[in-house]
Amino acid sequence: MEMNEPSRTDCVFCAIASGTGEASMVYEGPLLIGFLDINPVNEGHLLIAPTNHISDLADLPPETLAAMATLAQRLAAGLRLSGLRCEGINLFYADGEAAGQEVFHSHLHVIPRYEGDPFQITADWDSQPSRATLDRHAGLIREALRNRS
Ligand code: AMP
Repeated sequence: MEMNEPSRTDCVFCAIASGTGEASMVYEGPLLIGFLDINPVNEGHLLIAPTNHISDLADLPPETLAAMATLAQRLAAGLRLSGLRCEGINLFYADGEAAGQEVFHSHLHVIPRYEGDPFQITADWDSQPSRATLDRHAGLIREALRNRS
């Protein structure tokens, strides 16, 4: 996968970043755009995307990812002050099809939340593996990190 591909004609977020695609913008800068999700899970649901076409989390330059996090913090503050219903915020990033990524141009969801809203992520949050299992998994990840650097 090429790291920092130029704008792609078949990419909906590249079209938005270049101004040819329609979007309800809240932020435009040289590195990032922030705009309303066209199918908001709650009113005010935002997306932050790099202006360049980058598909995978692993290919995002660390400074771009850091800028996305900083912008998410700023947009979250805006959401809380906006008058839209926002009692909490979820940040959500889908990396890869198995994780639910549907648009293969990196983006971070900033989702306003409120008590009783319809947003759901279903998972078994109460699985209780043994400490030995957790330690084994941690070892596998540490080993992978050592081999990577
Ligand atoms: P993901 O599953 O993380 O890839 O999410 C992709 C998101 O992009 C979905 O929430 C879509 O509703 C949203 N989306 C797709 N096309 C557009 C568009 N043209 N403008 C704004 N949001 C879009």
